[in-house]
Amino acid sequence: MASTALDRPVYVTRPVIPPWENLEAALRRVFDSGILTNMGPAHVELEERLEGRLGAGHLSLWNNGTTALLGALSQLDLHDQAIVTPFTFPATVHALSLLGIEPVFADVDPHDLTLSAESVAERLTDRVSAVVGTHVYGNFCDTAAIARLRDERRPDLRIVYDGAHIFGRSGPVFDSAEAIGDVTMLSFHATKLFHTVEGGALVTPEAAQQARFRTARNFGITGEESVEGVGLNGKMSEVHAAVGLAVLDVLDAEIDARAALARQYVERLDAVDGLEVLSGRGPSYQYLTVRVRTEEAWTRDSLRSHLLDHGIVSRKYFHPLCSEMDAYRHLRSAADLPHATAAARECLVLPLYGEMTPDLVDTICDLVDAKRAAA
Ligand SMILES: *Cc1c(COP(=O)(O)O)cnc(C)c1O
Repeated sequence: MASTALDRPVYVTRPVIPPWENLEAALRRVFDSGILTNMGPAHVELEERLEGRLGAGHLSLWNNGTTALLGALSQLDLHDQAIVTPFTFPATVHALSLLGIEPVFADVDPHDLTLSAESVAERLTDRVSAVVGTHVYGNFCDTAAIARLRDERRPDLRIVYDGAHIFGRSGPVFDSAEAIGDVTMLSFHATKLFHTVEGGALVTPEAAQQARFRTARNFGITGEESVEGVGLNGKMSEVHAAVGLAVLDVLDAEIDARAALARQYVERLDAVDGLEVLSGRGPSYQYLTVRVRTEEAWTRDSLRSHLLDHGIVSRKYFHPLCSEMDAYRHLRSAADLPHATAAARECLVLPLYGEMTPDLVDTICDLVDAKRAAA
């Protein structure tokens, strides 16, 4: 068994830190230019380079994913209700609530844990103005089925995706415009595979919509003396954009390093009885997720405690469900979400980041084996 004597805790991820010389050069360019924010040269370059990786769609940078989502939803003429997944980060649902839109929870697909199109269909009434799904562990929602639902039943329905987990896939992010919906939000928070410390983006299939989002990002300002719409301050600073450019330079190396570690994890964990490996086979290496069903002789929570006792900090993404949070548990739709409820009890995200050593992956897998053997 590999040594489990770790000199410091191992967290579920470690932000990608570019070489210091690269960061220094990028930051020097910003401060030497005297332009620190308001869509300066670093911002423009980062938007172009990120858009180049998408495969489809038009991108606007924002100062974080949550503001981006809020800004997007504010421009889509929503009213009354929106159907949303409970198996997501609170920001997805809060963005609706902050705009006075009532969330209606629908269940997730039992396999990939993304918003279930079938469950959406059951809850789709005339009061619903949008569907908001989250792509989970790099798996896309069934975007084709959700688009079909709109085409067949409600042509005016808005389709929005929280894609905080998808940027940093190897290869193009989107294979079609349909995969974007009306808009997809990306998060570039430090814990995401690609990051700008804090940051985010919106991607939309239409250039005209991109222009509206850019206006909303900048107080609704369209000219020196014209403010045409309602907006907020969602701008990404030059400092953050410059860090993003430096991170982007090492992103493919990070993806390759994670892919190799993920292969090692998958090979070992596939052999563990009563453990399912949900992600780690690509194309996204944002998370390495395992699942322990409640019928098993051991539990997700006991595995998490065992790892924690040995200095390994794993995370329950997503737990609790948004529908279990104080702000939302009173909603009628918060009851009866069996697949999401099971996922929140059974899924565990293990450490995965490029700087990890293969020995550390072995140590973690040894701990999983030991816990399983003791069950
Ligand atoms: C990280 C994350 C967010 C929030 O993004 P920020 O950039 O931190 O505002 C929203 N949704 C999901 C699914 C996330 O993982």
